[in-house]
Amino acid sequence: MKIIATDLDGTIYLQSKIIPGVKDSIHEAKNNNFKFIFITNNSSETPYQIKNKLENMLSNEINLNDIVSPLVILKDYLKNFDKKIYVHGSYNLQKYVKTITTELFPIDKSEIILIGRTDSFSRHDVESIADAFNRGVDVIAMNKDLTFPINDHEFKDGNGAIVREIESLVGLSINSFGKPDSFYSEYLLKQFPKIFAVIGDRVDTDILLAKDIDAKSYLVDSSIKNYLDEDIADFKFDTFSQSVSSIIKNSKN
Ligand SMILES: [Mg+2]
Repeated sequence: MKIIATDLDGTIYLQSKIIPGVKDSIHEAKNNNFKFIFITNNSSETPYQIKNKLENMLSNEINLNDIVSPLVILKDYLKNFDKKIYVHGSYNLQKYVKTITTELFPIDKSEIILIGRTDSFSRHDVESIADAFNRGVDVIAMNKDLTFPINDHEFKDGNGAIVREIESLVGLSINSFGKPDSFYSEYLLKQFPKIFAVIGDRVDTDILLAKDIDAKSYLVDSSIKNYLDEDIADFKFDTFSQSVSSIIKNSKN
């Protein structure tokens, strides 16, 4: 059995609408002995919510362990530590972190700061996180996506917006639990047998991740604008379905 890792938003669905052809392609790939794992940078929905959404869309049972999101990587990471955590992020992120660790701490008492997406942030937030970073506190973002889709055509600032401001103050790169950073690729390499192909719509996350785990990369067209060179991808197709057909065909050669 060969594994295909596929991105979700912009690749198999747009918001909550499945992209035409996806369901049939997944079925066809399964008949050709492929298995899918679902890789996303979305940390505003829990893995369990994503599983339910996918099951409804694909009319197929999905294994919770085959869904990989920054929250999954975070949980795996925290397993090894008992550290005081401060969350700069939404109520949902705070709630999720509290299912892993019982208590959250104020920023000045924290040993790890997690940065999730918020609708807005202040200069004060940026400066206090940068100060903590300079004191040696671990600062890790859920992901560094610069944009966050709110519908098919509109985007808001993603996590990456605040991270970029913190990075410019401290002069160093902030790590993240998202694609394509090392926590994410290390988790995939540890958790799954060799991943044969990665399908996604973003060069800066999906395609770079594919390179990092030594998988063939398939870029599909979506509403997002890639600012990195699309030619980095091994293959470019308009849709997920075309990518899957090509993966099946190439595997027979
Ligand atoms: Mg995407």
